Amino acid sequence: MQELKEEIIPNQTLSKDFLDRLNRQFEVAGPSQVLFWGYHTFGTDMVLGTGFGPSGMFLIYRLWELGIKIPIFYLDTHLLFDETYELKDRVENRFDLEITRVTTGLSLEEQAEKYGEKLWETNPNRCCHLRKVLPLRNYLSDKKAWITGLRRSQSEDRSNTQFVEWDPDNKVVKINPLANWTGKEVWNYIRGKGLPYNPLHDEGYPSIGCIPCTQAVDSDVDDERAGRWKGLEKTECGIHLSTQKNGNAAKKNMNGNGQ
Ligand code: SF4
Repeated sequence: MQELKEEIIPNQTLSKDFLDRLNRQFEVAGPSQVLFWGYHTFGTDMVLGTGFGPSGMFLIYRLWELGIKIPIFYLDTHLLFDETYELKDRVENRFDLEITRVTTGLSLEEQAEKYGEKLWETNPNRCCHLRKVLPLRNYLSDKKAWITGLRRSQSEDRSNTQFVEWDPDNKVVKINPLANWTGKEVWNYIRGKGLPYNPLHDEGYPSIGCIPCTQAVDSDVDDERAGRWKGLEKTECGIHLSTQKNGNAAKKNMNGNGQ
């Protein structure tokens, strides 16, 4: 992990040793302690990013329950399912929130003109870069930390997720309060509390992203990320490259994206 620069967080030095110690403590602390630490350290310069998956639903609820008011955002690629947009509205109403829409200025028509029709088929890495990676980088450019719903159990690429990491791509601290939770634990919580969730999960979609790159899978498939970029080697959109287990996985994912 790249060492944090002192100037990133005035009056704080988050060295690698400090982060290692912090992460060891958070292994047994629980998500609320991680969120409190983040809020105490960064205040409202810390934001939560969500794609409205189960982890995001947990985190939105837990922040609300703890009374931690920070900006919440989602990446709108213009290609999300109607069910996802409807879920956003439901969450806003239920928790009295306004969730910031972060998006690209590049319309789908302009993208097709410049890069060809259905870029998600011809070069999905470039499509993700234009529609997700760059808008995120732009949004985070004046922030100090972002919270994600990443969990180690989601995939091999995410199996090295730490509670607190330095994100060198976006130059912010990345906070993953659910790093050591399983999908089952998150779903038990959601159902136990009656939290809103995307109805597509009940129709065979374990993970939900953009329409062209998301498919339903058989019910016996035991993979939390199944159905994303089906048939391709691609497993991540590129916004979590720094968390991926090793540089090889990152290189494989971004190969030929035209960066
Ligand atoms: S998930 Fe698919 S459609 Fe969405 S930005 Fe990436 S390649 Fe494009």
